[in-house]
Amino acid sequence: MNDKALPDIAFRAVTKSYGEVTAVHGIDLAIPKGAFVALLGPSGCGKTTCLRMIGGFEEPSSGTVSIRGRDMAGIPPFRRPVNMVFQQYALFPHFNVGDNIAYGLRQARPRIAAAEIRQRVDEALAMVRLGGYGKRRIHELSGGQQQRVALARALVNKPAVLLLDEPLAALDKKLRTEMQLELQNLQRDLGITFVLVTHDQEEALSMSDLVCVMNKGRIVQLGQPSEIYDDPADLFVADFVGKTNLMKGIVAQAGETQAQITLANGASLAARTRSRLRIGQQVSVSIRPEAMRLGVTDGPSLQGTVHNRIFLGSTAEYAIEVSGVGMVLVAADHLTHEPALKGPGDTVSIGFAQGAPLAFASN
Ligand code: ADP
Ligand code: MG
Repeated sequence: MNDKALPDIAFRAVTKSYGEVTAVHGIDLAIPKGAFVALLGPSGCGKTTCLRMIGGFEEPSSGTVSIRGRDMAGIPPFRRPVNMVFQQYALFPHFNVGDNIAYGLRQARPRIAAAEIRQRVDEALAMVRLGGYGKRRIHELSGGQQQRVALARALVNKPAVLLLDEPLAALDKKLRTEMQLELQNLQRDLGITFVLVTHDQEEALSMSDLVCVMNKGRIVQLGQPSEIYDDPADLFVADFVGKTNLMKGIVAQAGETQAQITLANGASLAARTRSRLRIGQQVSVSIRPEAMRLGVTDGPSLQGTVHNRIFLGSTAEYAIEVSGVGMVLVAADHLTHEPALKGPGDTVSIGFAQGAPLAFASN
């Protein structure tokens, strides 16, 4: 049998309640073997709870979690083919690096020979590029190095699945970017399934090959990063993932997958829709800042007044007040499409591509 076809991890109708609080509502999810999956959503949406149910630190209130086709109900963490890097990656401060990594192996029964433990610790240290650091004390290491020790500790017993709960949240921006690349490389080299929990949409989009967007205990969209970004399932995803402009309007005409929208300032535009909308329905229209062009008047456009020009190095952003609509953010690559530098008070037209606007029911 081709075990690639079998999902590595499967949730079936999984609900988890803590007394009155339902942390996870009826989740169905299949994670393919060898995938790098991100669980992405705001704080409190149930990401950690899902991860802990894979790891065996929580049991579902109802439904099943299976790994490689086997129902995990009642199976304790140390008997599951997974390992977890916790959000607070509590290392033992009084142990050196090698002893921290070896800890789990030394507890294993039947016993593992000391020489094998040593070899596996060295391999794990090499994987996280800390070769030769075995004798160092934890407090002698930087935050990034401690993070790598926590990773090595999770990798040392060769799990089939690695669970990572916001592993980079404590690191500064530069180090975080470096570790993001390293984690990607590590996952590719090891070929094991990674499930990463993060509330950082940039991190989810850049690192994973599958993003599972969660909101209020439910999965709202599962897809490749480009699908999530280009074709968000609803207003929540459009707003949460990436920057976008949301403009209120009313449906004037509705087709199967497109609609004509009248914005609050009376402007009319054609928008793509995920489902058929009703005439008269209130919607929010999303257009990404980078899908807009300054000074373009052929095709659909809006008129506005420049409020701020925000210099960002390789690009600039303009905050433009569109009367009746509000502030609209336009990204401009100043080498190719920032025709004449615009400053506060200048009037401009903002063009956008025919397919750029997306309309969502806003209830
Ligand atoms: P996230 O990781 O997305 O921030 P969590 O999975 O930690 O979210 O939490 C989801 C919800 O479940 C939150 O409302 C949280 O307060 C609640 N919750 C999580 N763990 C417990 C617990 N052990 N007891 C009670 N409520 C909990
Ligand atoms: Mg969490």
